[in-house]
Amino acid sequence: MALAYALMNHSCTTNNNGSTEQDDFQYMVEQFADLKVMRYRIPGWDSLNLRQKTYIYHLSEAALAGRDITFDQNYKYNLMVRRSLEEILKNYQGSRQDRDWDKFVVYLKRIWFANGIHHHYSTDKILPEFNRSYFAELINNAPGSVFPLRNGESPEEFSERLTKVIFDPGVASKKIVTDPGKDMVVESATNFYEDVSQEEVLAYYENMKNPEDHSPVSYGLNSKVMKTDGRIVEKVYKIGGLYGPAIEKIVYWLDKARDVADNDQQKAALDKLIEYYQSGDLKAWDEYNVMWLNDNNAFIDYVNGFIEVYGDPLGMKATWESVVNFKNMEATKRTEIISENAQWFEDNSPVDPRFKKDEVKGVTAKVITVAHLGGDCYPTTPIGINLPNADWIRKEHGSKSVTMDNITYAYDQVSMESGFLEEFAASREEIERQKKYGSLAGNLHTDLHECIGHASGQLLPGTSPEALKSYSSPLEEARADLFALYYIMDPNLVTLGLLPNPDAAKAEYDNYIRNGIMTQLTRIELGKEIEQAHMRNRQLISKWCYEKGGKDHVIEFFKKDGKTYVRINDYQKLRAHIGTLLAEVQRIKSEGDYNAGKTLVETYAVKVDPELHKEVKERYAKLNLAPYGGFINPVLKPVYEGKKIVDIHIEFPDDYTEQMLHYSKAYAFLPTYN
Ligand code: ZN
Repeated sequence: MALAYALMNHSCTTNNNGSTEQDDFQYMVEQFADLKVMRYRIPGWDSLNLRQKTYIYHLSEAALAGRDITFDQNYKYNLMVRRSLEEILKNYQGSRQDRDWDKFVVYLKRIWFANGIHHHYSTDKILPEFNRSYFAELINNAPGSVFPLRNGESPEEFSERLTKVIFDPGVASKKIVTDPGKDMVVESATNFYEDVSQEEVLAYYENMKNPEDHSPVSYGLNSKVMKTDGRIVEKVYKIGGLYGPAIEKIVYWLDKARDVADNDQQKAALDKLIEYYQSGDLKAWDEYNVMWLNDNNAFIDYVNGFIEVYGDPLGMKATWESVVNFKNMEATKRTEIISENAQWFEDNSPVDPRFKKDEVKGVTAKVITVAHLGGDCYPTTPIGINLPNADWIRKEHGSKSVTMDNITYAYDQVSMESGFLEEFAASREEIERQKKYGSLAGNLHTDLHECIGHASGQLLPGTSPEALKSYSSPLEEARADLFALYYIMDPNLVTLGLLPNPDAAKAEYDNYIRNGIMTQLTRIELGKEIEQAHMRNRQLISKWCYEKGGKDHVIEFFKKDGKTYVRINDYQKLRAHIGTLLAEVQRIKSEGDYNAGKTLVETYAVKVDPELHKEVKERYAKLNLAPYGGFINPVLKPVYEGKKIVDIHIEFPDDYTEQMLHYSKAYAFLPTYN
């Protein structure tokens, strides 16, 4: 619910002054497999004072301290694999000039990128492109390596076990299995459960819940469930509990941050967060979230904790993540206009009045400059965040919503010269419109999605928030996207000063439909279907609108020189269809109409046209681009006089491997087997 990810390949950009131009910072670092590694800048850093810089520095150390937690949560042998491969990388004595070595290095880079051995997006296990005998040669020719053997294990037994985990396609083949026909807990490789069945887990938590409780904690959010001596137990993430050594370090830095926080409210919130990390008590977590939420005017802010549940097939357990940021004052004016008009948006939407909020509460929105990424947000980062996730808090206190301007800016800079738009856009006019307005309209879409899209609407009394089960994520994303798309074409947005003219909204429609119905297929392997919630949502909207506008050719496929293109012929009719679908998706959510939700998703969001898929992949391959992006963090370097910090310098390293090896060494707070 809470994250928005970058649509790939924004094609062009506008800088903060609104003009289109490229700057000379080197944003692109390197590319391998289907991944690209970039850098981001921290505009405004020099105008921060020493206290602010120090605060950000301490929060950033807290963000880095949890890195190994994320690896271990993703799969129980991720740290074993990563640490072994890093030993080989450092110590291998054989040739580093041949193709097999290159393949080994790429494999390790992919593991760093995914925080584990499963692809960060498809969650399929990443299989190496070198073979077992080459791997044996690597292990045997890396003298001085310290491999993470288990107690009593011989080196031979260890390398056999490691080889199996890496090469056997049947071992931990998928991180998240979402097939409702299977035991998702048993089949998924995530490390949230061990030796328990889905049925046992559900029964375990069902017992805890009290339907009378109007502020229920997020049961199971911060623990692993396993069986010990035939009994089901929860191992809680806390100091003294699971991941204790890393959490201690996080708390150490949060405590230092507390002393230089922006205001007393923030200090109190940090105290509460520390209390939660010490106790593991989810009541304290909720209390913290309310405090964090109420600190609306924070200039410097952060996310730090076990938050998003995308990594759990049951959507209950959260992966550790962190983002440190400060407010972009100039760009925040844009979202303030949206927030001030939140009630107007709610009142004028095409949704049935029964499903609307009488009063839209707590829509706070700001544009932020990211200063550090950690855990599940590193190196792949969201471009927008809307938190907290607990439904009762959102209902009673609202939510905080941010968009990450310097991250989208870096994306835009990198894709500016990619040739992607020239390959897939339907016309010269579309390309020019995109170059002129694409970045601005894209950012506005994200703002609308996060600030009012997720915050709008309400459930009918008696409807369970969990009624849509495994279909809830794509439908919730669709709801927020539809809200944004419906309003971006509203003439009032030009009046409000959010868009320069109606043409800018067309750029967003072009981009959205082209991506949802066609170009996002570049991310899917041939023969596979769409599984990821955001991608499902985008195809759902695009295909549904295509079908709905069929006889009027509102959206049209056409061929030119043997290539398929898609164009929008009637933007106003398309907007009307978007409004109709928005009303229906809101109805499904408000009434908890599981069957209708399922039908929508299964009919429009999952299946892929194999012909078009193949064509798009072939055209894309020729561009030699990577569909997924991630970022190297800048380095914050304190300057000391004696023990006192007198300044914090900022550096922008451009060596991905070096940063990963540094992190693996400097933030190795967990044992290999937890
Ligand atoms: Zn969203």
